Amino acid sequence: MFKNFKGVERCVYGRGAFNQLSDIIAPRRRGKGFVFLVDDVFANGKDGLKDRVPLQQGDKLYWINVDEEPTTWQVDGLRDRILNEFGGTPDGLIGIGGGSVMDIAKATSLMLTNPGKSEQYQGLNLIKIPGVYHLGVPTLAGTAAEVSMTAVLTGPVKKLGLKCDYTFFDQIILDPELIATVPKNQWFYTGMDCYIHCVESLTGTFNNEFSRAYGEKALDMCRIVFLDDNISPADRDDKLMIASYFGGLSLTYSEVGVCHALSYGLSKVLGFRHGYANCVAFYHLEEIYGEAVNEFKTMINKHKIDLPQGQAAGWSEEQISKMADVAYALTHMWRHAFGEDWEKHLTLERIKGWYRLM
Ligand code: NAD
Ligand code: ZN
Repeated sequence: MFKNFKGVERCVYGRGAFNQLSDIIAPRRRGKGFVFLVDDVFANGKDGLKDRVPLQQGDKLYWINVDEEPTTWQVDGLRDRILNEFGGTPDGLIGIGGGSVMDIAKATSLMLTNPGKSEQYQGLNLIKIPGVYHLGVPTLAGTAAEVSMTAVLTGPVKKLGLKCDYTFFDQIILDPELIATVPKNQWFYTGMDCYIHCVESLTGTFNNEFSRAYGEKALDMCRIVFLDDNISPADRDDKLMIASYFGGLSLTYSEVGVCHALSYGLSKVLGFRHGYANCVAFYHLEEIYGEAVNEFKTMINKHKIDLPQGQAAGWSEEQISKMADVAYALTHMWRHAFGEDWEKHLTLERIKGWYRLM
């Protein structure tokens, strides 16, 4: 069976495209108001984005804190607050921020129309009712959360996405100007999420011409963004934003692999942020990803990025075991990385061995 995948319904791309937001949502207004979920990094107003959010009467702006990655209870709380303050479902929901806010916006849209707790819906096609209209404006590039069919949440038991056709944004606005303010380390960690998506997508067993077409192009763009000495900041942001999008499209017909499986363990047990966790894991996966890991190290050195080594010395055996269990359970990633007989290549001990290198 070949995947019959949906996608983001509409996409605007360009420097300053954010200014079109008001016009884009105008036909969707039904008099109930829109919810704007905006990363609270913009709350101080320094970068000017706060004043550009096109609020109209009845709309509400909620500042979203993403010091920790999104959780099921955070989304459930937001849903309750919105239903309460709007006296029902709003006309739509706009997410403005990094991958965390993208996922919170997608998940909250779904939970506004589906009963119960979001932890019930962590998995594939468990959501039965379409969410409210939702639009995403990424302000950080790399995760591909703007284009993916999943809204990744950490719940009481697992870190897993709400995955279904309704999760996709109805509209995205890709405005590379918005990522200019990202601090360097964060820019790198999230950008490497894209680089690693491409490497993993291209090197596993699921990949095909479709995933290669997007993955190879995105990888080329990452190389220019992170290795070219002559690229201008604007060109760099333009490219990274599209590389993120293409990296996501590549994964549509492929999968992430060993690095992401290990990364999920680091996030679930130690609370490491996704991009950073990927970097911590990828650094030690030369045995799997060969030359790409050397290239990644060149990028780290070039940009003088902090990536602490020897962290595993501070982790207990219990933590390492828990992380290995989380990673081992991600069977689709192992199947992609090693093939149908992945269990022959992988033991919990091998996974623990990778963690102990970090
Ligand atoms: P993030 O959204 O967690 O943000 C990281 C930091 O950057 C935050 O402190 C945030 O406030 C700040 N930030 C965001 N935009 C900024 C800007 N323009 N200027 C200054 N600071 C800014 O980081 P991320 O790496 O984009 O997203 C990680 C999240 O994405 C994780 O929760 C992960 O699980 C999720 N994810 C989702 C998918 C998916 O397909 N849905 C894929 C990969 C990762
Ligand atoms: Zn990722």
